[in-house]
Amino acid sequence: MAKVAKVVLRHKSKYVDREYSYLATPETKLGAQVLVPFGKGNRPYEAVVTEMIEQEDAEDLKKIVRVVSDFTISPKKLELAKWIRDRYMSSFSEAINLFFSKAQEIQKLHETYLVTELSSEELEQKIASENKNSRNKLMLLQLLLEGEVNLSALQRELGKSLLQSARALEKENALIIEERRVHRVPMQTYQLEQKNITLNHNQQLVAKQIGKNIAAAKQTLLYGITGSGKTEVYIELIKKCLENKKQAIVLVPEISLTPQTIARFKNIFGDRIGIFHSKISDGERKDQNDLILSGKIDLVIGARSALFAPFENLGLIIIDECHDDAYKSEQSPKYDAIEVAEQLCKMYGAGLVIGSATPTIEQYYQAVYGDYDLQTLSQREGGILPTMEIVDTFEEMKMGNLQLLSKKAIQAIQKEVDEEKQVIIFLNKRGFATTLTCDFCNHTAMCPSCDISLTYHQVGNKLLCHYCGHQEEYHKKCKNCAVGHYQHIGYGTQRIEQEISSLVQNANIVRLDKDTTQGKDSHEKLLQRFKNQESNILIGTQMISKGLDFEKVSLVVVLNADQGLRFPDYRSKEKTLSQILQVSGRAGRGSLGGKVIVQTNDSGNKIFEYAIKQDYSGFFWEEIKERKAFLYPPFSTLLRIQCAAEQSELAAETAVRIKDAVEYYLTKRERNITAIGPAPNLIQRIENKYRWQMFYKIENDEDVVLTKKIIQYILTEKRAVVVPQGVFVSVDINPKNMI
Ligand code: ADP
Ligand code: ZN
Repeated sequence: MAKVAKVVLRHKSKYVDREYSYLATPETKLGAQVLVPFGKGNRPYEAVVTEMIEQEDAEDLKKIVRVVSDFTISPKKLELAKWIRDRYMSSFSEAINLFFSKAQEIQKLHETYLVTELSSEELEQKIASENKNSRNKLMLLQLLLEGEVNLSALQRELGKSLLQSARALEKENALIIEERRVHRVPMQTYQLEQKNITLNHNQQLVAKQIGKNIAAAKQTLLYGITGSGKTEVYIELIKKCLENKKQAIVLVPEISLTPQTIARFKNIFGDRIGIFHSKISDGERKDQNDLILSGKIDLVIGARSALFAPFENLGLIIIDECHDDAYKSEQSPKYDAIEVAEQLCKMYGAGLVIGSATPTIEQYYQAVYGDYDLQTLSQREGGILPTMEIVDTFEEMKMGNLQLLSKKAIQAIQKEVDEEKQVIIFLNKRGFATTLTCDFCNHTAMCPSCDISLTYHQVGNKLLCHYCGHQEEYHKKCKNCAVGHYQHIGYGTQRIEQEISSLVQNANIVRLDKDTTQGKDSHEKLLQRFKNQESNILIGTQMISKGLDFEKVSLVVVLNADQGLRFPDYRSKEKTLSQILQVSGRAGRGSLGGKVIVQTNDSGNKIFEYAIKQDYSGFFWEEIKERKAFLYPPFSTLLRIQCAAEQSELAAETAVRIKDAVEYYLTKRERNITAIGPAPNLIQRIENKYRWQMFYKIENDEDVVLTKKIIQYILTEKRAVVVPQGVFVSVDINPKNMI
């Protein structure tokens, strides 16, 4: 009998996506990263041990070269990786990679410290007896008087080596040189004064009920308006969790992982927090993982990847702004972080709390009819919800105002500036200039069978539905009123900045967009400027819609509010309303009260009624009817297959072939599930590849499993006959990004 390790290669290719057996070395452990010889040349490849077994006749197996690092993935996490692979149809190695940093062998970091056993008097004596010319030695002795010295940091600061002097002093028994392991942790410069909060009555009731839910392993949706104190409730729950010696994970969307949010948690939990987001280095991630394993970090806050922190004593997962699309991964495995969190909580018996002022229709539905308990916070503590006004920019356009900002908005901005308050201007940049609107009647061309707007395509001069493939010829003259012409819409933050500079007096503008936040801390610095009131107007795109809490902001202006409405996506209404309510929530946080001006050229749209009333649940009850009528989620699972190739026809043909094959096998099983499409993606060409997609709306879970199995079968066993060389096929379960 020999010890044999089954391993999965950390390699992209689907052809090697299975377990291989190797003779184990004595150090080999389940979940460890190893190097194995692979292929004819026995080149060493990175792999992860997924199973350890005893096996006879194993002599012929190749032997593991060595274990790469001391970090291992736990058996439960291996289970989770398998679940992710099956649910999202990824490869095993892609699923496993979620748990490891990209780089494998990361150097541990050491720094040199100086300590002394001499008393202060003895040090003073030593200083007095030292040669006045040995300045470096004198400096070190002086510093030692105040305590231990981080020599590495000192050398970096002074830009010179002091090691020789330190060694000399060590020889004279004045100090001891020590090498210590240090941990790279993300730096934090944003400062926030600490508040001492006692939960109000409602918050207490909600926290108590959620506490019970957690103990009973029941999931909670915390539906609370912006500024109602959801974060304060989270903090209370985390405190309880840590008191019980359990670990907690807080997920926030990447863009609301603002310095403000981090500072708020740091103020309370200090060094026990680890921070995981896309900008931390591999070294920082590794060191934080080590701190977790040694028990020094028991709370992580981060974007969706924080789920994969090596916690084995998990007590609580909180998902803030749970409506956000950022929780869905766009790369394989195309996982949904909330589903993965549900799975994790099941495995570890932990509690799950998801929270938002604008939960998705699916989430709200689950809380009303399904597996989640609904808890509500409907009031702001020490503030009131802002009042909202809709300004019809189409009317303004007819009256000859070609500025982006309406007269009303300019006046309101000037008033706030004069009163030394602050203003946030939010520009909705979702969408593309491919959307067309009539400049006379404001008509947008819609698909006859999908209730989704058509998109203009220059190639062939056509209007196309990106859901069902319907197409019609494009005429510049509006087909509704036959008077006006279709116009492209496109706005920019810079143009707004210019308008304000010329129209508003004493404007001091901070602009937050992709251009101004390139540098490493520029985002933090710009926000700090606004926080310190060195600026009175903040202009930004999606980046500023979340996680910001500024007391002096009394006016929020939303531009282009309806742009998302013309998006070919069944969630476009939900997303538009959600965005308006989220951005409005930045106003009136302090005791000043607040006002929101929403500019749109589609002011008749019903969602603006819900927006004015801040009535998200009212919207839910209306929208859910439509979802049911069209069989969209939560009444079905959407499955998308996408084909990409350098020639558009090749991608289209492959899509049709896959569609036919899936249909063939489904019919054999007497299942009647038809694909919608294929149709070209909204952005059809990306990186020189043309993309076509098709959808399946599937009502019950068994059919989802069956259809996935069939697709998997076609894409592996039947690949040679169905998918030509050069075509990339991807499958997505409930995709969020329809473009
Ligand atoms: P949400 O997460 O729901 O948007 P926050 O937790 O950010 O709301 O709360 C909004 C503001 O109100 C914060 O500045 C917060 O500190 C403050 N706040 C919330 N609850 C209380 C309370 N009970 N006492 C004092 N201040 C509170
Ligand atoms: Zn259509």
